[in-house]
Amino acid sequence: MARRTLIAGNWKMNGLGADGVALARDVAAGASKVAAELLVCPPATLLARVAAALAGSAVNAGGQDCHGKAGGAHTGDVSAEMLADAGATYVILGHSERRTDHGESDAMVRAKAEAAWRAGLAAIVCIGETLAEREAGRTLGVLETQLKGSVPAGATAARLVIAYEPVWAIGTGKTPTTAEVDAAHRHIRSVLGGLMPGADAVRILYGGSMKPSNAGELLAIADVDGGLIGGASLKAADFLAIAAAA
Ligand code: PEP
Repeated sequence: MARRTLIAGNWKMNGLGADGVALARDVAAGASKVAAELLVCPPATLLARVAAALAGSAVNAGGQDCHGKAGGAHTGDVSAEMLADAGATYVILGHSERRTDHGESDAMVRAKAEAAWRAGLAAIVCIGETLAEREAGRTLGVLETQLKGSVPAGATAARLVIAYEPVWAIGTGKTPTTAEVDAAHRHIRSVLGGLMPGADAVRILYGGSMKPSNAGELLAIADVDGGLIGGASLKAADFLAIAAAA
């Protein structure tokens, strides 16, 4: 099953106007040289400006979170419809920083994924074990629980992407071994097979300290269909080098 590699940048809470737009323009300028699909996910404040800067290029824009409801009395929140209106085609959901900082549960992530689909966005659902869970030998069980709780019924490969992000690898410079990534991704695909038809076509990204120097090895793993990139997505040259390694 051919799956087009997706390299997604998660800018997190980084970027003010001119610099964010310049970063998006630099990514767009290099996009024609890589075969992978490229996506940048700026903070919500920059989404419309970044989407406008990317117009006409092959690079997509996405959000980093959305509320489950389309609108209403939810101060500070952003709906999936608002993201789509601002130019997003994807949204990252259930990132471990959201799960930790905002207490997001699997059920909340599932509701957000349903909201994303309602608004026509593809959902990038993040899952991953903590260091304590890995050391206790619970990694595959944790991934299975998170997948079953976070992925709504009605998933299709066009509107669902999974990001496997070991919590202990995010922003730390540490990465699992290729054998550990391989085992996690194969398990994720097998669990997905029980949740939806066509799981072979779903893209499963690896995220956690991916950088130009390790991207080739990680992206060569059979069930790794791309990367979710944090720190290294803030420099266009590094982000594009990761994409070129795919
Ligand atoms: C992330 O936060 O999604 C991530 C993968 O971060 P980093 O690449 O900085 O580890």
